[in-house]
Amino acid sequence: MITIDDITRIVSKENLSALPDILKAYRLAEEAHRGVLRESGEPYITHPLNVALNLLNMEVYDKDTICAALLHDVVEDTSLTLEDIAHEINPTVAELVDGVTKMRGMKFSKESKDNANTRKILNGLNKDVRIIIIKLADRLHNMRTLEFKKNRDRRIEIAQETLDLYVPIALSIGAYRAKKELEDLAFANLNPELYQDLFNQREEILAARQGYIHDLESQIAMLLREHNIPNEVLSNVMNIYGIYKKVNQGYRIDNIYDLQYLKVLVEEVNECFQALGIVHGIISPINGRFKDYIHTPKVNFYRSLHTTGITSNGMMLKTKIRTFDMNKVAAFGVSAVWNINPNKKPEEIPRRLSIESTQEEIRRKLPFAKAVQEIDSRYKSDASFVEALKRDLLTTEHIYVMTTTSEVIELPVGTTVFDFCILTAPEMIDNLSGALVNGMYFDITRKLSNGDVVQLLVNDYGNPANTQTPYQKVKGKDNGQSPLIIL
Ligand code: MN
Repeated sequence: MITIDDITRIVSKENLSALPDILKAYRLAEEAHRGVLRESGEPYITHPLNVALNLLNMEVYDKDTICAALLHDVVEDTSLTLEDIAHEINPTVAELVDGVTKMRGMKFSKESKDNANTRKILNGLNKDVRIIIIKLADRLHNMRTLEFKKNRDRRIEIAQETLDLYVPIALSIGAYRAKKELEDLAFANLNPELYQDLFNQREEILAARQGYIHDLESQIAMLLREHNIPNEVLSNVMNIYGIYKKVNQGYRIDNIYDLQYLKVLVEEVNECFQALGIVHGIISPINGRFKDYIHTPKVNFYRSLHTTGITSNGMMLKTKIRTFDMNKVAAFGVSAVWNINPNKKPEEIPRRLSIESTQEEIRRKLPFAKAVQEIDSRYKSDASFVEALKRDLLTTEHIYVMTTTSEVIELPVGTTVFDFCILTAPEMIDNLSGALVNGMYFDITRKLSNGDVVQLLVNDYGNPANTQTPYQKVKGKDNGQSPLIIL
C-alpha cells in the first residue's frame, strides 16, 4: 500500500525545498480523512497520496501542486476549510484546492441542472492550468480503481464522463499518456467484452510482428550509433480505444497502419533530421505522409517528425522521430513545458518556464482556453454555452489549418470560415465577408480541411484599421463591395 514515503522519496530527489510544506499538507490531510475507508477497503488517504504520486510520475514537482493534490478532497469531505489551508500552508494551495473542489461538483453527463456550474468551472480552469493537471491525476486514480465501485450505473456514468470531458481536456493540454490510459479504462468499463476482444486481437497481431519490428529497431539504432548519434529506438502500440475508433470507421484491425509505430529518440533537433534520412533509407517513405511538427508544433506543444513508409516485407509503418525532451512534452503535455524543478540544470529541462509565463502562453496559444473565453462571451444561456462547448471544444477530432503568418491553428472537424473567425479573430466577425482558402475565394459557410491555408477577408466599413494588428489592405476584388482587408 502507498505511503507518504513513496512521495518523500521522489520529492527529496527532485525538489528538496518543497519537503516541509508537503509533509505538513500530508499531516493535515491524513488527520482529516482518518478513519474513512475507500470502497476498495483501503484508508482514504491512499487516494490523495496516489494523486500526488501520479503528478510526480508526470514529472510535476511543483510544491503547491503536490500540496494541493494531497489536500484536494478535504474541503468537500472533511471539516477542514479553505481558510485552514490558506492559513496552514498558503493561499495559492487553497485556491488550487478550491478549483479542484468546484470541478468535482460537475456532472457533465447530466447537463440539464448543472450547466451553470459547468460554465463556472470551465471558466475557472483558465485561471490556473494546475487545477486541470491535478484533476486529471485525480481522475486517473479514480479510473484505475473504478472496479471497486459497487454501483454499476455510477461506474458507467463516471466512465462516460471521462470520455466526454477528461479525455478532450487531457488532449488540449497535450497529456497524451494520460489521455490514452483514460480512454482505455473508460472503454473497458463501458464495453468490457469488446475491449477484451480487441485487446486479444491486438496481442495476436503484435506477437506475429514482434521479431520483424525488433530487427528494424536494432537496425535503425545501429545506423544512428555509426553516425555517432546517441539514441533510443522503441515501438509503441495504439491504445484499444484508438483501435475501436478505427474499426468503427471501417478499418480491419490488421489494416490499421499505425496500430504499431516506431519511435526514434535522439538528443538534438538536427539529429532528428539525420535520423529521418536513416529511417527513409530503411523504410521507403510514402510521399505526402511526412509531417514536420518540430518546426510547426501542434498547438498543445507537441513536437515530432512523423513519416510513414513501406517496409522490406511490404508493411506500412509509421515512425515518429523526436528529441528526448520533446518526448516528455508528448507524454505529459504542459506540465513538462513548465517543469520548474529547481534541482535540475536549465539545459536538462525541455523549456524552463515559470508557471506564470506558461499560464500566459497557454491563455495566448491554447485554443481550448481561448475558445472557452470566446464561447463564454457569445452565449447568454448556460445550456447553449455547454452545447457550444461540447460541439466546438470537447472533441478529439481535429483539423490543423494555417494562417498566412504560418501559425498552426487546431480546430474541431467541421469548422467553417465563420467558426474560424470566431475562434481566431472574433473582433472581425461583424465585417467578415469570406476567406481565401489556399488562395481561392470562399464564403463564410465554407468548411475547412486539414492543411488549409486561410486568409480572412473583411469589408472595410470604417473598420478599425488598427496598425497594431497584421491586417493588410489589399486591392479588393471589385465586386461592387468595399475594399477587403486580409488578416
Ligand atoms: Mn479525489
